[in-house]
Amino acid sequence: MRLSLTLTTLLLLTPLNLQAQQPADALAPSWKVGTAVAKITPQRRLHMSGYSSRKTPAEGTEQELFGKAIAIEDQQGKRVVFVTLDLIGVLDELRATVAKEVQQQFKLPPQQLLMNASHTHCGPAYGREDAKDYFDSLAKDLVKIVGQAIERLEPARLTYSQARCSVAINRRTPTERGFLNHPNPNGPVDHTVPVLAAHDGAGKLKAVVFGYACHNTTMGFYRWLGDYAGFAQEYFQADHPGVTALFMMGCGGDQNPYPRSELKYAKMHGRSLATAVEAALETNQRTLRHQRPIRGAIKAAMGTVDLEFSDPKRSDFAYPVQVIRLGDELMLVALGTEVVVDYSLRLKRELGKQDGPAIWVAGYSNVYNGYIPSRRVLLEGGYEARSRPWKPELEQRIIGQVHELVGQLKK
Ligand SMILES: [Zn+2]
Repeated sequence: MRLSLTLTTLLLLTPLNLQAQQPADALAPSWKVGTAVAKITPQRRLHMSGYSSRKTPAEGTEQELFGKAIAIEDQQGKRVVFVTLDLIGVLDELRATVAKEVQQQFKLPPQQLLMNASHTHCGPAYGREDAKDYFDSLAKDLVKIVGQAIERLEPARLTYSQARCSVAINRRTPTERGFLNHPNPNGPVDHTVPVLAAHDGAGKLKAVVFGYACHNTTMGFYRWLGDYAGFAQEYFQADHPGVTALFMMGCGGDQNPYPRSELKYAKMHGRSLATAVEAALETNQRTLRHQRPIRGAIKAAMGTVDLEFSDPKRSDFAYPVQVIRLGDELMLVALGTEVVVDYSLRLKRELGKQDGPAIWVAGYSNVYNGYIPSRRVLLEGGYEARSRPWKPELEQRIIGQVHELVGQLKK
């Protein structure tokens, strides 16, 4: 009774013209979007990244690897560019090279460039001395696609929506001997699949950026492969010819896809994730309640926070944190290297507000340098805690930096 009364009151209070205008407004292309893609599969045998047990180079290609760029421009001409990569991580040298070049060539400031890697364990170890030629051509290709994406900017509307996918399982199992790297169906996960969709002026889907928090470790063989994220992008694009699908890795530092170790599972996981992206778009099409047509301005801020090691001989690590706002509807937090899931769960809890922007937390962004455990994971121990001798204050420092940047963007 109370509910129906409230609804009636709401309907009465809502001006009729607003009800009528909302869908038309939502369809207006108030942004510009452009995309570009480069094939980055190594053309010769290189060593692979992800498992130290692999001592010999790759033996072939199961699936092409891609670098993809999406440029987004607001009505004031301000831009952000996301670069997503089927690679293990964004090495510091790669980020520095690409960021410098795109600032010089396209006047894109570093805080408006987000680079994210899928963390596939079947990509090249491109930081090795013997992969220098690959590194150089990779950096060149990425600068080129950023330029192409900017050149191709055309009117678009942006929407945000989300669905869920349950491929990821927490991989920290408590035992009497400590935490083992083993599927723990009771451990924390983030099964959200955030989706940013761009439709062109004619209303046709043009690009999707979708996220997921899970290691790309279904496979560990000797062939180039984008793993589940590679298949999710491939399948989505095959089902939507002409659409560019970009994968943005989330806080999957302690998450694995299960089952693993057979190619068919990588394909199944990819299909599951691609289907979740479809589900997110479905909520977009059918009801305004779950979609967020994005309007407004781009705001971006980036900072570093010094993370300390408990070993006094090691100097602090300047850890990059980036926050990008698209209008009042979406806030994307991009954290560096292998962040565990606690960060995305905590940040969504602390930053999420009923009427506020949707919160999207990416990991594996802008730097790749070992695990970033939460305080909990660090104190519990286990695989993700052993990577670097961090002081437990790291979580509070990172979260503090995020809040500071978010605060800056409110001004
Ligand atoms: Zn990892």
